[in-house]
Amino acid sequence: MALKNDLIVAMDNKSVRLYEDEFMVIIADVFPKSKHHYLVLPKEHIQEVNSLKTHHIPKLIYMELKGLEFVVYRTMLPARCFQVGYHAYPSMNRLHLHILSKDFNSVHLRHPFQWNSFHTEFFVPTYSNYRTIIRKTAFKLILK
Ligand SMILES: [Zn+2]
Repeated sequence: MALKNDLIVAMDNKSVRLYEDEFMVIIADVFPKSKHHYLVLPKEHIQEVNSLKTHHIPKLIYMELKGLEFVVYRTMLPARCFQVGYHAYPSMNRLHLHILSKDFNSVHLRHPFQWNSFHTEFFVPTYSNYRTIIRKTAFKLILK
C-alpha cells in the first residue's frame, strides 16, 4: 500500500532517481499502469495542483518538456505514444506529473477507478493548470 509521503521519500533516494537537475527529479512509478510510466516531480515543495501559483507556470512547462524528452529518449517511442498530466485530486504528497504510454497494459491496472483516473476529467493536462491558475489570480484581482 502506498503511503502519503512515499513520493517525497522516493525522490530523495538517489538510487531511485532516473533523472535529476536543479529543478526536478524523474522516477519510475512503483505501480505502473502502462508499459512505461514515469513521474516528474519538482524539487520545490509544491503540494498538489491546487497549490499552484502563477510563478509556477514556467516550471510546469519545463517539467513537461524535459520529462517528455527523457521518456522519449529512454523508450525510443515518439511523444504521441504518451499521455501526460496531473491527477486533479491526488492521494500523494508532492505535485507529480504522470507520463505514461497509452497502452495501459499492466498487471497494476486492476480496478475501473484506476482506468478512470487517467481517462476522465480527473486527469488534468498541464495547460488546464495554467488556465485554472490564471482564473484564480484574475478573481483575486477583481475582488481586491
Ligand atoms: Zn498521481
